[in-house]
Amino acid sequence: MRLLVVEDEKNLNGLLVRRLEREHYTVDSCLDGRQAEDCLACAEYDGILLDIMLPGRSGLEILRELRSRGDRTPVLLLTARDAVEDRVKGLDAGADDYLVKPFALEELMARVRALVRRGPAAAGDRFELDDLVVDCASRRVSRAGREISLASKEFAVLEYLIRNQGVVLSREKIAGHIWNYSYEGGSNVVDVYIRYLRKKIDEDQAHRLIHTVRGVGYVMRIET
Ligand code: CA
Repeated sequence: MRLLVVEDEKNLNGLLVRRLEREHYTVDSCLDGRQAEDCLACAEYDGILLDIMLPGRSGLEILRELRSRGDRTPVLLLTARDAVEDRVKGLDAGADDYLVKPFALEELMARVRALVRRGPAAAGDRFELDDLVVDCASRRVSRAGREISLASKEFAVLEYLIRNQGVVLSREKIAGHIWNYSYEGGSNVVDVYIRYLRKKIDEDQAHRLIHTVRGVGYVMRIET
């Protein structure tokens, strides 16, 4: 799950990013409205944490612009305590939820979990394909009843593939969903993680579930 954090208070921004990354989200962050628009033009997010009072462009302007082009990415507004009018405007402009500053990080995390469950990527939290079971809430994976232990990024790649099972995903699309802008690895990072996943999930199995589509990318599906 990839999130965008737009917050111009540096300390709060850093705190949010660290906490979200600890919960295994991939996070891009910006300190002003213009940067936020650049990020939104280039990447797809599963959720946006959007401060209202920002230099450059305000959170409300960004939100209106997003909704006017039909983008339904879930948005959680971060607002000042006394700005009731802003919160009403925000909800009217298409925000999914809001949180008043200062807030407890635990509450924010709960709101974020609820937020991304509403997004287009969230068809549920539990997926089955052949005898593979992936539970995204508990982050548990098993095949034929045998528990499989995955590293954080391995799980992120698997989650993205299984949420889009049957859909062929390009390397760029997978990389763009799992790694943020500050990542400086090579473009073959996706192939590397697919190799790890195959070893853990498909090796020695009668049916392989992760398939390469030559010249295009990867897909998870049952092939007979
Ligand atoms: Ca602000």
